Amino acid sequence: MTDCIFCKIVKGEIPSKFIYEDEKVVAFNDLNPQAPVHFLVIPKNHYESLNDIDTKEAFADIFSAIPKITAKLGIKEYRTVVNTGASAGQTVFHIHVHVMAGRKFTWPAG
Ligand code: 5GP
Ligand code: ZN
Repeated sequence: MTDCIFCKIVKGEIPSKFIYEDEKVVAFNDLNPQAPVHFLVIPKNHYESLNDIDTKEAFADIFSAIPKITAKLGIKEYRTVVNTGASAGQTVFHIHVHVMAGRKFTWPAG
């Protein structure tokens, strides 16, 4: 998708430091971190939201990357968040999983 900022990050059109990359996904630090550690895991292919992921493989590609990245960072406990749709807080319409750590999180979320 040409006007998607996360597709531009995947293609290197917006310079970003990847903290992880494999054939299917990349991860990079959030521009506006909500915790001492806050990175985003995104598929290289464009899917608008969780509602648009059409294969088990795509789910597996995204979620199986997370424990690999946290292990590399030495993180055992973390919060994962996927906002789906504007009312749920989604602002970038290329699916991404927020991974946050390094502080105490409360539950239920607001
Ligand atoms: P959402 O609100 O859609 O769940 O999350 C979008 C996230 O992307 C936000 O936390 C925001 O800070 C982050 N973000 C938006 N634009 C950029 C960008 O250009 N680079 C990076 N690294 N993060 C971004
Ligand atoms: Zn995209």
